[in-house]
Amino acid sequence: MPRIMAKASGFGLALIAAAMLALVLRPDLRLAARVAWNDPRMLPALADDARVHYEPEARACAEAVAEFAPRAVAQIEAAHGRPFAQPPIIGVYASYDNYASGNGMDDSGIAAVTRAGAALLSPTLCSKERKRLESVLTHELSHVHLSGWRPFGAPRPPQWFTEGLAVMASNGGGAEGVSEEEAAQAIRDGYRIVLDGRRWINFAALGFEREPPRDPRLDALTQRQRLAYRQAGMFVGWLRRRAETAFLHLLRALEAGEAFEPSIESAFGENAPQLWRRYVSEIVQQSHHDARG
Ligand SMILES: [Zn+2]
Repeated sequence: MPRIMAKASGFGLALIAAAMLALVLRPDLRLAARVAWNDPRMLPALADDARVHYEPEARACAEAVAEFAPRAVAQIEAAHGRPFAQPPIIGVYASYDNYASGNGMDDSGIAAVTRAGAALLSPTLCSKERKRLESVLTHELSHVHLSGWRPFGAPRPPQWFTEGLAVMASNGGGAEGVSEEEAAQAIRDGYRIVLDGRRWINFAALGFEREPPRDPRLDALTQRQRLAYRQAGMFVGWLRRRAETAFLHLLRALEAGEAFEPSIESAFGENAPQLWRRYVSEIVQQSHHDARG
């Protein structure tokens, strides 16, 4: 018996050593381990609202979040036309390092991230960017809602659509500082987003037909991102106004894990580029009407 035990513990030690070696050699596994360790579910939850998890130093901010969370949740459920699949988890962070570790991108420069059914809020939303706290949380809850229904491993809808949906559903969350009128004028001037399947989380990949002019007083990446998000949000809002039933069909299909392209085509009878061209020509015509008074 002692020999078997020695063998078993030797095997256990070898496993631990292998796991440690893997963590040393594989930065992706190291990141995954830190993400798991900093998951918002590991943080304490508010007694009044178990959906809100927080780092102790961020308690006051978490309480502010809990005050408007019911409103944000109701707004997203109304915009998406369905309740959440499960109660959304919200993580409020005080440490930029822990937030960066928990958000799965090892980046503390993003205001908020939705990961594995949870919305993680950067400390900046509790301080410097406090004014955006509610709108950004509402935006993230749109992502939590969609990802909560989609089966594991289902194809991802293009990011222009998920971001546009989140901006539309949150009444402009994530597109603060760019008005609909400014974004419409940019469309008329040819500074139009490119609707492709690329991931916009990499802001360098975010494409415009013509590079929009930069305001030297503002951060270049932020400007591009907010303009793109605003245009995507307006387009998604237009799709919804155009045919509400079709729009909800599209959402239900995506929630069921179906691919985006065939789903939008069967809901609207046209593909996304065709619909986008139609939208752009309406925006361009609007300015002619305005010019004629
Ligand atoms: Zn987003």
